Amino acid sequence: MKVILNILTHGDECIGLGVAKEIEKLGIDPSVLTIQVANERAYKAGKRYIDADLNRSFPGKASGNYEQRLAWRLSKKIREADIVIDVHSTRSELKDALIVGKLDHVTKRYLKIIQPKYVLLMTATKDCALICQAKVGIAFEYGKDRDPATLKKIVLDIKRLLGHLGIIKERFTSKKIKTMYFDVFGSEKKPAGYKLLSHVKNYKLVKRGQPFAKKGTQLVSAKEDFYPILFGNTNYEVIFGFRARKI
Ligand SMILES: [Zn+2]
Repeated sequence: MKVILNILTHGDECIGLGVAKEIEKLGIDPSVLTIQVANERAYKAGKRYIDADLNRSFPGKASGNYEQRLAWRLSKKIREADIVIDVHSTRSELKDALIVGKLDHVTKRYLKIIQPKYVLLMTATKDCALICQAKVGIAFEYGKDRDPATLKKIVLDIKRLLGHLGIIKERFTSKKIKTMYFDVFGSEKKPAGYKLLSHVKNYKLVKRGQPFAKKGTQLVSAKEDFYPILFGNTNYEVIFGFRARKI
């Protein structure tokens, strides 16, 4: 069994460093678990990325911009691992979510062990995310970057999985949480100057025809029912976030 704990896919999401520090304390054989710092250059520059979002740059290119080349190099290692855990934080109010690129039975089994509150199947970003290169790829989006409670929850849930895999001796009892699964199928454009209406919340259904953003008196209404995911005014430059349906 080979596990990669990947951190700093986004150079400004330092929570991964704290998680890696805690997991290192477990003294796991490095041939079983390796910690991979994805975008060290962006981290050192204090930026999310250098040329382009690394998590939209996979599988990458042998010659291309910085992140495309980096993705190309990382892809090889990622494909060799049995499980890739990718640690993120978010500026949105999204919490307690695991993100996956597919829901095959192995991935599902691990998700049942971790028992997150939410599972997001990212169909919208297709294969350009880091986790999509992996045999089993699971990304943590549990909360804000500087939040100690978020850090603690991520570490505990990684340990839960490592315990199940027999990599650590610790065993954990079931959380008794019913996980909600969402298929994240599309993104929602953010026209210049528009802001979300205050009722718009992550995981809270927006009904077809319901207004959800405005600029002055101009309103934007939903063309179909959707659950907002990773929604916010400042999360992304050109989109509010993603649209999802329940699975
Ligand atoms: Zn991220």
